Amino acid sequence: LKCARCGHAITAENHKGHTYYSCATSNKCGGYWREEKINAMIADALSRFHISEKTKESIRVALLESHEEEAELTKAELQKLQGEFAQNESWLHKLYDDRLKAIVTEDFFKLKYNAIQQRQQEIQSELEKLKQINEDYMEEALQILELMQGMRNQWVRANQEQRAKIAKILILELRLNDVSCSIEWNKPFDLLYDMENVKSGVSEGSRTPNLWIHSPVL
Ligand SMILES: [Zn+2]
Repeated sequence: LKCARCGHAITAENHKGHTYYSCATSNKCGGYWREEKINAMIADALSRFHISEKTKESIRVALLESHEEEAELTKAELQKLQGEFAQNESWLHKLYDDRLKAIVTEDFFKLKYNAIQQRQQEIQSELEKLKQINEDYMEEALQILELMQGMRNQWVRANQEQRAKIAKILILELRLNDVSCSIEWNKPFDLLYDMENVKSGVSEGSRTPNLWIHSPVL
């Protein structure tokens, strides 16, 4: 969230049950917005997403392909961690043997044992995280794609937490000025918006990621 007047970040504050956003520059450029107005502008922008079945299918394919690259990276990382985990396990066995045969001292055994065990726990939590990241991203992106057609209604009905989730996936940057906002969409959603603009002649074939949305609520 940025101020379109000066480019500075916009911060939120609560006042009597309402959330207000204002420009946080030291020279106070005067930018000031009610949360409801921002939500209404985003709703307006979302109503302009229209996707044909054909477009929907090509986006699904693109999403799956880009996810495949990501999945490959994650897979390599998973294998590396799993390999290290297995290696550490065999070292632990070796350590037990050495201690049983009294090759190493009790102190050395404890020191090594604790260090390796700690690393094993770290590896396990890293593995969990890696698995989760991949699943969450893909699932949420596909859900959003499914909902794109009715995105505006979805946004209006959503609670704050759901809106944050939608915004995080769709919006790269949102700039506000006095009467409108400009939204830069995340890929590949920018394509949907642009294509629609080209079709309706708004941007005359130029593929600008920003589009100013003038909202009557302001
Ligand atoms: Zn400002």
